[in-house]
Amino acid sequence: MAIPSRSVPGNLASLPHVVVIGGGFGGVATAKGLAHQDVRVTIIDQHNFHTFLPLLYQVATAGLEPADVAFPIRTIFGHAANVRFRHGRVRSVDQARNLVTLGDGSEIDYDHLVIATGATAAFFGVPGASQFAMPLYTLADARRLRNRLLSVLEEAEVRSEVSHDSPDLTFVVVGGGPTGVETSGALSELIAIAIKRDGLRLDPARIRVVLVDVAPRLLTAFPKRASAYAKRRLESTGVDVEFGRSVVSIDEHSIRFSDGEQIECAVVIWAAGVSAGDALPEDLEAPSGPGGRVRVGADLRLFDSINVWAVGDAAAVPLRDGEYCPQLAPVAIQSGRHCAEQILHVVHHEVTTPFHYHNKGIMATIGRNAAVAELPHGVVVKGRLGWLAWLGLHLWYLVGFRNRLRVLINWTWRYFDWPSGPRLIVADAETVD
Ligand SMILES: Cc1cc2nc3c(=O)[nH]c(=O)nc-3n(C[C@H](O)[C@H](O)[C@H](O)COP(=O)(O)OP(=O)(O)OC[C@H]3O[C@@H](n4cnc5c(N)ncnc54)[C@H](O)[C@@H]3O)c2cc1C
Repeated sequence: MAIPSRSVPGNLASLPHVVVIGGGFGGVATAKGLAHQDVRVTIIDQHNFHTFLPLLYQVATAGLEPADVAFPIRTIFGHAANVRFRHGRVRSVDQARNLVTLGDGSEIDYDHLVIATGATAAFFGVPGASQFAMPLYTLADARRLRNRLLSVLEEAEVRSEVSHDSPDLTFVVVGGGPTGVETSGALSELIAIAIKRDGLRLDPARIRVVLVDVAPRLLTAFPKRASAYAKRRLESTGVDVEFGRSVVSIDEHSIRFSDGEQIECAVVIWAAGVSAGDALPEDLEAPSGPGGRVRVGADLRLFDSINVWAVGDAAAVPLRDGEYCPQLAPVAIQSGRHCAEQILHVVHHEVTTPFHYHNKGIMATIGRNAAVAELPHGVVVKGRLGWLAWLGLHLWYLVGFRNRLRVLINWTWRYFDWPSGPRLIVADAETVD
């Protein structure tokens, strides 16, 4: 239900103060829903930009530039007099005093608090995983991964010149969900481009991209025929897909599985799962749900709280059948919008309403020109049609007209001249986070 806009009085200080922690899909949708309303909003993020996470893998595999998938949060709200952005990391929350404390020690008080902190990579306690495997959850992760992948290829060529023999190179991607599928497909294409177009002197037959998962099929959230299609397509681009493989340890140069096999590898990319718990501020008193998410009631308020809310990946949002909403961008956007409406209801002494997730489908790309999408009512679209649907949807949700235009031009260019990504090693990426 859309809430009509109310004019914001000149004296902002007298308005109820809503603090939103996180400028991802959920936090931005919440703050947008509160913009130009009779509340004062502070949106806090540790980065001064919003990141479009679904396209990170294209940054990591040199298809897009970091700036194509990020947008300054301050700019999003530049025209909303009642919304201000605060750059910083929220360290802790004091629900008794309605205060959040930032990393620099400053305190911000609130009347309503929205937890929209998302999730981070979950390493499930696998020894060596957090140290040696490369996750893909922030823009800095994507830049680091791109640097590493391109550097490994450059170093391999140097070794091949010294030894007069192309070395064996293995890249392992752990996790057969959408991120693992998309990354392994794009990585295989990147290697082919580097050899065919950039003249990298390596023997493609000695380079492997291996996608491993403990499950018996890829994309388990999709119907089986979509999984089978994804596997066929990945294999046709040269990716080895291995199921039933449980990782027990990772070190600098190898990965070991529960069946005892150890594979020498140059890079391990970790796309095996996420945890919301590690992203939450300290001292948050909230019952923990699946994946470390905070449990919320039907109106998205934390249980036992009258003024703390959670949205997106951070929240275990109940569905009608006793399950929880998946951690996806549309859930974050819809829950953020709903949360904004409910805060306004509370501010105006009205009753809140329950959140209902409208499932518009899920999709994943499998390299250039192929994707699978499951639309509502179980309709599966694959191949070029699925890919075009994927392109359209991602462009639609990308923040900022300039970013949309740049990405559209980039993709169109790559469609007709596919090796055109920015294959740059930017040495200072480690300082970006
Ligand atoms: C690689 C990848 C690919 C994906 N692909 C898809 C896809 O194709 N389709 C899809 O629907 N979903 C996809 N997802 C999932 C989707 O991106 C998430 O569900 C969505 O981003 C959740 O939104 P959110 O606002 O809850 O969290 P996020 O978008 O993660 O935003 C959280 C924000 O909170 C900030 N933050 C966290 N802690 C603090 C703190 N203590 N202080 C200040 N700021 C903080 C972070 O910096 C971040 O900006 C993908 C995710 C990843 C990682």
